[in-house]
Amino acid sequence: TVLRVAFIGLGNMGGPMAANLVKAGHEVVGVDLSEEARAAFQAAGGQVATSAVEAVRDVQAVVTMLPAGKHVRAVYTGADGILAHAPKGTLFIDSSTIDVDSSRDVAKAASEAGMDMVDAPVSGGIVGAANGTLTFMVGGPDAAFERAKPLLDIMGASIVHAGDAGAGQAAKICNNMLLGISMIGTCEAFVLAEKLGLDPQKLYDISSKSSGQCWSLTSYCPIPGPVPTSPANNEYKPGFAAPMMLKDLLLAEEAADSSGANTPMGEKAARLYEEYCNNGGENVDFSGIIHLLRKSG
Ligand code: NAD
Repeated sequence: TVLRVAFIGLGNMGGPMAANLVKAGHEVVGVDLSEEARAAFQAAGGQVATSAVEAVRDVQAVVTMLPAGKHVRAVYTGADGILAHAPKGTLFIDSSTIDVDSSRDVAKAASEAGMDMVDAPVSGGIVGAANGTLTFMVGGPDAAFERAKPLLDIMGASIVHAGDAGAGQAAKICNNMLLGISMIGTCEAFVLAEKLGLDPQKLYDISSKSSGQCWSLTSYCPIPGPVPTSPANNEYKPGFAAPMMLKDLLLAEEAADSSGANTPMGEKAARLYEEYCNNGGENVDFSGIIHLLRKSG
C-alpha cells in the first residue's frame, strides 16, 4: 500500500533515503532547513513542506534523519513538536545517530502521545543510502518494528531488531567504539612494525591469519597495499571520515558515563580522534589516524 510519509532531514543521508521511498511509490513530503536540500529532493520527485508540523498533519509515517540528539528532541517534543501534531497512531522512525538517553526520552514521549516509534540508526554511509543497502539497527516494541520494516526494507538491505527503545543506538555506538579502538590498534601494530624494520606486508600476511585478525586489518587495512579497496590506497579519502568516528566515540563515552560502564580504551580512542580531527584529519578517512600515530612516536 502507498503510504503518505513525512521525511525530516534531507541531508547527505536523508536526501537519498527519502528519494528511495519516492522511487518505491510512496507519497513523500520532505522537510529541511536548507533550501538546497529541499530543491534536490523536489528534483528527485518528492514534495516539500516548509515546516515539520505542517508536513506531519496527514501522514501515516514519519522518518527523521537529523544531526544530533538536540535536533531530534527539538523536532519531536514540546508544543511545536511533531508528536503533538501528527495523527494518533502515526509511525515514527528516527534514523539519526544520537545519544541513547535522548533516544529513550523521545521514544517515551512518542508512546505517551499514542504513537509507534523505533530508533533505527544506520551504517553504510552515503553509498548505502543512495543504493538502498543500509544496515538498520532497530530499537522499539515488536509492533512498531513490524510496521517499520517494510519502509526500512526499501532503504536498507539488512534490518536487525536489536531490542527495546534505544537498543538500535546502543548497538551502533558499541560497534563503532569497538571499530575505533581496533583501527587504532591496527595502526599501532603497523607503526611498530615500521620502527622494528618488519615489512608491513609480512605483518599483514601473518596477522591476517593469526589472533590479531580483525575487520580493520583485513577489510579496511590502514596502509596501502594489502587490501586494494581500502581508503589507504586512495589517499585516505573517506570512506568514513574521522569526525564521524569521533562523533560516535563521544556518544559512546556519554553512554558509558550515564550507565556507569568502564570503557578506558574507548575514552583513549576518543582523545586520539579528537587530536587527529584538530590536526589535519577533519576531511580524511578514519584510517588516516595512522599519520597521527606515526608523528607522535
Ligand atoms: P547532514 O548534515 O548532511 O544532514 C542533516 C540535515 O538535517 C541537514 O540537511 C539539515 O539542514 C537538516 N536539519 C537540521 N535541523 C533540522 C530541523 N530542525 N528541521 C529540518 N531539518 C533539519 O547529515 P547526514 O550526513 O545526512 O547525517 C544524518 C545523521 O546520520 C547523523 O546523525 C549522522 O551521524 C548519521 N549517519 C551519517 C552517515 C554518513 O555517512 N553521512 C553514516 C551513518 C550515520
